[in-house]
Amino acid sequence: MSEPSGPQWCSRFPGSAATADLTPDFRDRVEAFLSQLKHAGASVSISATYRPPERAYLMHWCWMIAREGVDPAGVPPMQGVAIAWLHKSSSSAPDIAASRSAAAQMVSTYDLRFEPSLTSRHTQRRAIDMTIGWSGTLTIRDFNAELRKIASLPRDGSNAELIDVGASFGVIKLVSDPPHWSDDGH
Ligand SMILES: [Zn+2]
Repeated sequence: MSEPSGPQWCSRFPGSAATADLTPDFRDRVEAFLSQLKHAGASVSISATYRPPERAYLMHWCWMIAREGVDPAGVPPMQGVAIAWLHKSSSSAPDIAASRSAAAQMVSTYDLRFEPSLTSRHTQRRAIDMTIGWSGTLTIRDFNAELRKIASLPRDGSNAELIDVGASFGVIKLVSDPPHWSDDGH
């Protein structure tokens, strides 16, 4: 038995925003970086660390059906996710319009802006999404305990000097994705 797609799926397989859910090696690097950010008086808000593969599957395929015209009947199944992407009418005929509309509601409930990938560093526990900010000059110690004074703009996670400090800890910025850092920049 499978259940038709729709926004009720979005609260299932929830993601985590805890550093404890990262792979131990990357978690240590992230926590060292976070500790120096905190010490420097920066504000940090973490929105995502681990994303279960089931959640990545749901996010990817609702986007593909709603936005990329993928045939809902052609979506590969995933073990443990009994979702029916293809809706059927009362006479059991395939209802493509209802399928696309349900997928679009999922896109909107997840608040997706870009095509989510099926596999990401998040599903591998090797990425963190965080919003960083500070006022004035940020004085922060890098991994080599060197004191860095960051007076340049912008005062957020896309600052080139802060990206350099993150890299010293092995926390690498993906510049095209504002909140996203990982162990290898992907
Ligand atoms: Zn991310």
